[in-house]
Amino acid sequence: MKFDLHCHSNASDGKLPPSEVLARAAAAELSLFALTDHDTIAGYEEVAEQTHPFTLISGIELSSVWSGVSVHIIGLDFDPKHPAILQAIDGLRHAREVRAHMLDKKLAARGMPNTLQGALQFCPDIGQVGRPHFAEYMVQQGYVQSANKAFDLWLGSGKIGDIKTEWPTMESCVKSIVEAQGVAVLAHPLRYKLTFTKLRRLIDTFAEAGGEAVEVACAQSPGNLQQALCQYVAKSDLAGSGGSDFHSPDWHWAQIGRIDPIPKAIQPV
Ligand code: AMP
Ligand code: MN
Ligand code: MN
Ligand code: MN
Repeated sequence: MKFDLHCHSNASDGKLPPSEVLARAAAAELSLFALTDHDTIAGYEEVAEQTHPFTLISGIELSSVWSGVSVHIIGLDFDPKHPAILQAIDGLRHAREVRAHMLDKKLAARGMPNTLQGALQFCPDIGQVGRPHFAEYMVQQGYVQSANKAFDLWLGSGKIGDIKTEWPTMESCVKSIVEAQGVAVLAHPLRYKLTFTKLRRLIDTFAEAGGEAVEVACAQSPGNLQQALCQYVAKSDLAGSGGSDFHSPDWHWAQIGRIDPIPKAIQPV
């Protein structure tokens, strides 16, 4: 079965409108698809009622924090009208707004004034604005040469713009998804750059909180750790999910439907 359970539209930080993302899912001949924008289902709602040549399930990628690390939790096939998910989204909109003001202050103190106003050019909704939009403005102003550089120097993990105090806990995000009758998936576990011991602790805590699957099939999976991760998931009660984390046609390394297969020893989500 061809599927992709992790993709973004311009309802969050993707480049294409939801309908164009879905057109690409159709062109890739997928049979199961989820649009999983950061902290919003607005994109999904736009296309949910249309007919598609594949099964479209509800999806979201929630921003959370666990043990001082920013962790992303994917929600799949939940009731999009359930108060638990709507409350989680409301809280995250508020968190994004508060964070945007904090980011604006921090960058201003480093000689980059009015970056919030600038970021809002690329995402007019302050409840949705994120670091990629700040990065885009920083490139436009010539503060950095590329979005990647903006993350390396200012916005990425461990830099001044990596503000995570506002995010809800990983456990509460899992709970919101489960309460809304959905399946919680730990997104891209190898991207948090944890030691394997800490990663195992994350996976165990995630499962205890009600998480059901780990994203074991991504667009590009680094060798050794990937194998260890799959072995750990195969031995657990957790299922495996897969998604490209598509954001833009220009990110050639993350295109819709182009993901590694889920290893045979792991139950597909
Ligand atoms: P936010 O949701 O505002 O915390 O921003 C996180 C998003 O930034 C991720 O979902 C990625 O799409 C993007 N991102 C993370 N690291 C980088 C990077 N090094 N270069 C470009 N975009 C990145
Ligand atoms: Mn993103
Ligand atoms: Mn993510
Ligand atoms: Mn993503």
